[in-house]
Amino acid sequence: MQTEKVIRRDLKYIMHTYNRSPLVIERGEGMTAYDAQGNAYLDFTSGIGVNSLGYCHPAWVSAVTEQAGKLSHTSNLYYTAPDGKLAKRLCRRTGMDKVFFGNSGAEANEGAIKCARKYSTVTYGPARSKVLTLVNSFHGRTLATLKATGQEVFHKDFGPFPENFDYVPANDFAALEAAADETVCAVMMEMVQGEGGVVALDADYLQKVEKFCRERDILIIVDEVQTGVGRTGTFLACEHYNIKPDIVTLAKGLGGGLPIGAVLTTDKVAAVMGPGSHGSTFGGNPIVCAGACAVLDTMDDEFMKNVNDRAVQLRAGLEKLPHVKQVTGLGLMVGIAFEDGIKAADVRTACEHAGLLVLTAKDRLRLLPPLILSEQDVDHALKILSGVLEKA
Ligand SMILES: *Cc1c(COP(=O)(O)O)cnc(C)c1O
Repeated sequence: MQTEKVIRRDLKYIMHTYNRSPLVIERGEGMTAYDAQGNAYLDFTSGIGVNSLGYCHPAWVSAVTEQAGKLSHTSNLYYTAPDGKLAKRLCRRTGMDKVFFGNSGAEANEGAIKCARKYSTVTYGPARSKVLTLVNSFHGRTLATLKATGQEVFHKDFGPFPENFDYVPANDFAALEAAADETVCAVMMEMVQGEGGVVALDADYLQKVEKFCRERDILIIVDEVQTGVGRTGTFLACEHYNIKPDIVTLAKGLGGGLPIGAVLTTDKVAAVMGPGSHGSTFGGNPIVCAGACAVLDTMDDEFMKNVNDRAVQLRAGLEKLPHVKQVTGLGLMVGIAFEDGIKAADVRTACEHAGLLVLTAKDRLRLLPPLILSEQDVDHALKILSGVLEKA
């Protein structure tokens, strides 16, 4: 059978770094993924926040195929139009000034750390290179971003790491104040910790952090790799908090399914990053950027209204389900904590058998539906979840 063959070959030739479900996804359309036997699954995972427009959105498909037929790649030694178009759209929507394009979230965060260190070194000398991050954060899998990730489990067996990272508990301003000595150049945070369990930061904590950092010219890096590009109901999650970062990183939802990472900075920060200071062979790839432009152009006011309406509908429905203790996160980045000893991993598996794909984060269930979801899609997902939880 096709499914068994695909799984057997994968196990033989792909490094076993992922815990996969025994499911082979063959194609997708909108909100629906189809397995090799043609079974349909309502997909509330978006490929972990990537397929912001769902599978094969017509605007994205046509932008990508048109660009693929025209120019698929050249080098960053020449100008091309799509990366500039995308950068302009991103700056207009975020109020940031300049963009560097890479290929993933981790790479965007690496770029952000490099920008912050260079700004600080050029401005204040080499003694200010420490980056503070939050306990339970997740910033990526490269050595520097792994070190920036405030979860010891990820560090085991991979040292030595780049130096000068330190961690402070989220929402504890006194701890940050105590840790932010004269060697600190930047604070890096997710507005909603995604992999850490879908935990939103407190607004008054962030206000204090912003004021504190401004007074000391400590740069604020907001990792919007998961929260960005409309996921939480605003284009950036930091808009909910009225935070104006020096550096913002984007990735997952930006490319609509193709690999991209972006470092957005103010002119002040970008000014230190001259020719030769950073680069990426694939960064700013025309096909990827043309697709990302289609993603942004699709996210108009009406689109964002749907994101917010569906988030309200989904959250209200989840609150009413049996065994649900707490619904966390922001917008369509949803965490669900259970009571009565219910395990999120078991709920996830049961949902999959019932035709609904969902995620977990720590001990919570996590929903990251495509932002195109309809009222009926939310009802359908709630019905499946309700059936699963009633039997749990
Ligand atoms: C997923 C994620 C990353 C890493 O992105 P990759 O594209 O897997 O490198 C970094 N930060 C946050 C907040 C993420 O959710």
